[in-house]
Order: sequence, then C-alpha cells, then structure tokens
Amino acid sequence: MELTTDIIQQQITKLTYDNQAIINGKKTAAASGETFETISPIDGKVLTKVASCDQVDVDKAVKIARDTFQKGTWAQQSPQERKKVLLKLADLIAQHHLELAVLETLDMGKPINDSFNGDIAGAVETVRYYAEAIDKIYDDIAPTESNILGMITREPCGVVACIVPWNFPFYLACSRVVPALAMGNSVIVKPAEQSPLTAIKFGELALAAGVPAGAIQVLPGFGETAGQALGMHMDVDVVSFTGSTEVGKLLLHYSSQSNMKRVWLECGGKSPNIVMADCNIEKAIEQSAYGVFKNSGQICCAPTRLIADRKIKDQLIEGIIGVSKHYQPSDPLNPTTKMGTIVDKNQLDKVLSYIEKGRKEGAQLALGGERKHADSGGYYVEPTVFDKVKNNMVIAQEEIFGPVLSVISFDDFDTAIKIANDTSYGLAAGIWTNDLNKAHKAARALRAGVVSINSVSRGNDTVTFGGYKQSGIGRLGSLRSFDIYSEVKTTWIELQ
Ligand code: NAD
Repeated sequence: MELTTDIIQQQITKLTYDNQAIINGKKTAAASGETFETISPIDGKVLTKVASCDQVDVDKAVKIARDTFQKGTWAQQSPQERKKVLLKLADLIAQHHLELAVLETLDMGKPINDSFNGDIAGAVETVRYYAEAIDKIYDDIAPTESNILGMITREPCGVVACIVPWNFPFYLACSRVVPALAMGNSVIVKPAEQSPLTAIKFGELALAAGVPAGAIQVLPGFGETAGQALGMHMDVDVVSFTGSTEVGKLLLHYSSQSNMKRVWLECGGKSPNIVMADCNIEKAIEQSAYGVFKNSGQICCAPTRLIADRKIKDQLIEGIIGVSKHYQPSDPLNPTTKMGTIVDKNQLDKVLSYIEKGRKEGAQLALGGERKHADSGGYYVEPTVFDKVKNNMVIAQEEIFGPVLSVISFDDFDTAIKIANDTSYGLAAGIWTNDLNKAHKAARALRAGVVSINSVSRGNDTVTFGGYKQSGIGRLGSLRSFDIYSEVKTTWIELQ
C-alpha cells in the first residue's frame, strides 16, 4: 500500500488508545489506580493516560505467569501448536499494519514511512521467523558407550520478563517476546513509559491469536517501579532487557540481590565507522548520513563516530552536509518525511546539552546544532555534525542518542582501529574500503558484536545482534535467540 496523507488522517480518526495493563487476559487498571500521561512528541500534547503498574501488579502477573507455566497450558503444547498460534499472531499484526504504524508514529515521533515500511513490516517478518523456526530445532544425543543414552535437551526457563525501550517499541517487543513465547515461556512485557501504546496492542493481538492469558501479559509503568519490581522478583527466571547500559547494570544488581535470575542485556553503543580513502566515497557519504540521522539518531548501533581518513575528511563532511538536506526534521505523519522528532522533552534536553558540551570541549560545529519547530510544541533537532573531535571528548565517548555525528581524523589504518576500539561500548563497528586485506583485518580487530564492511546497520533475524564490552551480555537474532530463553538439561540413562 502506498501511504498518503489522506490514508493516514483517516486512520487517525479511527484510532482508539488502549491504555490499560493486560493481566490474566484482561484489560486492567493498575491496582493503585495510578496512571501516567503518554505525550506525542509531534506536538507535546497528551495522547492518553496509561495504567502505571507497580509491585502489586507485578506480583499478580508473575503469579499468573508461573501458574500457567506449571499447568503447561502453553509450555507443554507441541512446537507445531505454538507455531500455528504465532503465525496467526503475525497475520493479525499484518492486518493491523497501518493502525500500528500510525500509533507508533504518534507515540514516539518516528516518520510514518519508517513505522509502516520498517518497524511494523519488520515485526511481521520477525514473528514469522521465530514461529516457523520453533518446530525445526533438534536436541542432541551424546556419543556414548552402547549401554548408555546421554541426551542434551532444551526446556523453557519459566517466567520471562522483557523490558524494552522506546526507540523501536513494537519491533523490539516482538523480537524479544516472540522467541521467548515460541520456546514455551510465560512472558511479561514492560514497555518504556515514553511509548507504551503499541506494546499494549501487541498483547491484545497475541491473546486474539490464541496465546493463553497467563503466557502473555503487558505491564506499562515506570522503570523504577514496574521495571525494578520485575528485576527484583524472586519468581522471575529471566530478564531480557533492552535499554541503556546504566539501567542494564542495575538489572545485574537486582539479579544478584534476588534470585540470580538470568539477565540478558542489549545495551547502548557509540559505534565507530571507519572510512578509508580507497572506498566508494559517494556510497560511504550517503550511508554514513543515513546511519546517524535515521530515527533521529535514536538507534543503539548508529555509527555516531565517523573515523575519517584525513585525506578525504573534508570531502566526507561536505558530502554529509549535502545529504543532510533530506533529513531536515519535519512532521512525522507526512509520508515523505525522513527525520521526525526526538522521543520526549527529557531526551531533547539531553541531546541539546551534549551539543553544548561538544561546543565547550572545542569541537567545531560543521552543521546544525539547534532545536527546530519549537512553536509546534514538538521535539525536533536538526542534523548535527561536529568536526575536529578528539576521541577522548565527552561527545565521542558517551551515547547521545540524537542526530549528532562526531568526526575524528586518522592518518593510518592501525590508528583508525585503535580509535575505533577506544570506547567502553562494543555494539557495532564498520569500515569502508575496497582493500580486501584491510577489510578482513578490520573485521577481526574491531571489538564489536556486529561489523559492517561497506555498509551501515544492515541485518535481520537471520544473524545475531548484541554487544561486546558494556554494550551487553548475550546475543539475540537467528536461532540463537532460543538459547537465552531455554535451560539446557542433560539426561543420562543406563540401559539395563
Ligand atoms: P532505558 O534504559 O532508560 O529504559 C529501557 C527500559 O528500562 C524502559 O522500559 C524503562 O522503563 C526501563 N527501566 C528504566 N529504569 C529501570 C530500572 N531502574 N529498573 C528496571 N527497568 C528500568 O533506555 P531507553 O532510554 O528507553 O532506550 C535507549 C537506550 O536503549 C539506549 O542506550 C540504546 O542504545 C539502548 N538500546 C539498545 C538496543 C540493543 O539492541 N542493544 C536496542 C535499542 C535500544
């Protein structure tokens, strides 16, 4: 379907905002009766008030999840049965494609074209991938003497909490929750307080597809209340967390203070993008700009440090400034918009304060740096490029999560790799070169979970995603997603 303004506006008039928690298959207010406002970053206006869950709701949901797991209502269905239900979920998401895309854009400000053709379309594929995979996983039989049978089998872990962020709210909920469900776990989702609406819809669609009430529950609420209660809970077996490194560390602490639950972390990044003089410069310019300005720079693996061969550095900056014209922030509901808003006022202030820090540290502002369209009430920042950045500056070391590029120069390959790895993060890294040897050497030397050669931010469910160093623990993506949501058991039988 081709998106037009008319189609989008018609959908907006039909929208209803589901704003309650989903506990035991029912739409439910928080036990406390508390709510929080979810504000559209497009104009700063309140969309609706959403149930604000806390410890009491978490206790209730975890008990229901555990009971469901023990009864085996979902966990003991055959993989083929779970597959059928999850394929139906994919179909239902596809049927609600436009509604979900519009909801996502209103709630977090990404361009409708990205929500529609990227996030929601991608989520359908993701749900299908894990649904299709689950009846194709085999366990192992060990090589033994003939009177022994040694089996290594996988089992679901039990109660899994998925705590997700706001930058790809629906897509990330699907890619974290669905492999956990496919394995047979009972899942509780805690969406980010900035963008809870599509995750609530996800819960409704999962129930409609046939996931049992206790196997999928959604608890909107704040990190310090609902999130912490899940992290500290004695009966949650696994937390799958996607969000900042700072909060990821808290989840490790909660685990150590409670039941040693498994904690899988997909955290922040400050990804290097090395551009050698021998590459396809035009393509490097276009992709480097896309990588850092897409989703207003609110992407964990965004290539925010452009490590440029000094010989072509000025050419690169000039090119990126040229391409940035296509990324001028404007109304996310317009189907031609390529860059929308920052998610909320707090994040807007954070991005602007980093830009200020960059100026004070002595980096040279080559482009942008300002808030735009403040009169709309929305949170827009223009594409921003800093030249003459040193890798020890705050803007080169800390994750800004906005459309801000730091350009750092190098004179030789070894120095480029050294600068690239000189960070506490290790989520993604890239190199542009036509020299096969340099490409392979860099791929081995770069300390990151995903390395891109002559591309930026590629990837889909067929490959893994996750971080070295403080970018996370564990890998999602591909069939390995099932590893983090399963316990592995050895059964040893002596044949009589
Ligand atoms: P965040 O860490 O502030 O919040 C993420 C989630 O954690 C939210 O649901 C939030 O409510 C919850 N939370 C906050 N405090 C908590 C606490 N004390 N206990 C338990 N839960 C708590 O992150 P964010 O601002 O929503 O998202 C941006 C961050 O997410 C960036 O750092 C980005 O790099 C990262 N991210 C990583 C990936 C990845 O795959 N590696 C993907 C997307 C985003």
